[in-house]
Amino acid sequence: MKTYPLLIDGELVVTATTDAVFDPATEQVVGHASRADAALIDRAVSAALRAFPAWSADTALRQRTLRAAAVVLREHASEISRLITLEQGRPLKNTAAEPLNAAATLEQFADYAPEAAAPFEEGGKQIRIIRKPFGVVAAITPWNVPVGILFTKITPALRAGNTVVAKPSEHTPLSTLRIAELLRDVFPPGVLNIVAGAGEVGAAIARDPRVGKITFTGSVATGRRIFETAARDIKRLTLELGGNDAAIVLDDVDPETVAEKLFWVAFRNSGQVCFAVKRLFVQRGVFDAIVDALARRAERTRVGNGLEADTELGPLTSRTQYERVAELVDDARAHGARIHSGGAPLEGPGWFYPPTIVSGIGPGSRLVDEEQFGPALPVIPFDDVEEAIALANATPFGLGASIWTGNVERALPLIEQLDAGMVWINRHAEGSKQAPKGGHKSSGLGVEGGGAWGYEHYVQVQVVSVAAP
Ligand code: ADP
Repeated sequence: MKTYPLLIDGELVVTATTDAVFDPATEQVVGHASRADAALIDRAVSAALRAFPAWSADTALRQRTLRAAAVVLREHASEISRLITLEQGRPLKNTAAEPLNAAATLEQFADYAPEAAAPFEEGGKQIRIIRKPFGVVAAITPWNVPVGILFTKITPALRAGNTVVAKPSEHTPLSTLRIAELLRDVFPPGVLNIVAGAGEVGAAIARDPRVGKITFTGSVATGRRIFETAARDIKRLTLELGGNDAAIVLDDVDPETVAEKLFWVAFRNSGQVCFAVKRLFVQRGVFDAIVDALARRAERTRVGNGLEADTELGPLTSRTQYERVAELVDDARAHGARIHSGGAPLEGPGWFYPPTIVSGIGPGSRLVDEEQFGPALPVIPFDDVEEAIALANATPFGLGASIWTGNVERALPLIEQLDAGMVWINRHAEGSKQAPKGGHKSSGLGVEGGGAWGYEHYVQVQVVSVAAP
């Protein structure tokens, strides 16, 4: 079975100590990831630092390289998508777009031209404001969308002239390490380094004083730790953390139509999406109809191995995640919840948990208050929409939120009352190529995204002021 190498200073490095990576659908090992130790992390950061002056000085080289990387991702898209399904679990038909979206991100930033601030005069002095890269950027990524999130981070970082040390999650390192192999000859040595290992490898990179900026997506707990580490050198940070998104359904909707849409924005990727719907508030008049339609949709969902063509939802990516979802549903049941579909793990092997619709619980219940990050959705009735908005906002999270209604005019004055970085009417969990994406409150710091929004987080300003001799 293959041992996937790291990419350090343009060299592929297979280590003696490796980590087994499991297919969550079979619990079988699908490959081994090389693991970076302190010496290799040091080599990666040193190489990135060495590569920085030449890389940051040559805009045309950066644009050309990003385009070349996009070509490679497109050529190997089906291989990469299969690898994501194998280690992450999502069905092939859903992972198919991930490498292609990454290629599109590379192309978008290759073409992106930051708008230069016009020089001006003030009191006889010439003033220019320019943007400068940080130097070495550390990119630490999670397991739910391993390739997409990697490229959302490293593409603007590289385009802006930074060099990169990236680390994928220990649960899903293979797709990233395979991309490292494929891109080895595309990037000049040291510009893109990819190391792997568990949390301590991420912590060691984040601690390195030569790293100027850290971009991280993952749990709030780890984000907080990185924030603390970054404080020592005042490292710049972009954090995309958890969410506990609310969707508020008003009683003027068609329950069947809306339930089908709600189902997918809650359960896509088996609920393992930062901005999936995780709390559903439904106005009393349509409550029973929505719960019933969701439960029927859940019951007919084909849960299975993501490699099979007709699978709609795959397994949970890790045993920890699978056990956590089971624990939260059991806790809800113990506190008097009604389970309308699912409610118990499927028979193994594989970390399968069916889509589960829960009612009869509210704030104060763990399944409502905590981020479940899995296929179990609490549905909570409300009478007055202001009450629902207050409940939606009563969380330390602030990633996304939505209102569903047959009358958009009715929702427009309400939507801005939701304290979240992304708010939607009649949709949820959908981004835009040009708009920023990021959370309020504990859900994050800064934004990511296409064009200027993504780019500006990877540069710092420098004011050049010139007086006559
Ligand atoms: P989860 O607990 O769901 O795996 P994490 O937020 O811990 O989510 O993981 C996201 C990424 O952060 C992974 O690549 C993981 O290895 C990394 N990581 C975990 N702990 C740390 C840490 N203390 N410092 C830096 N990175 C870490």
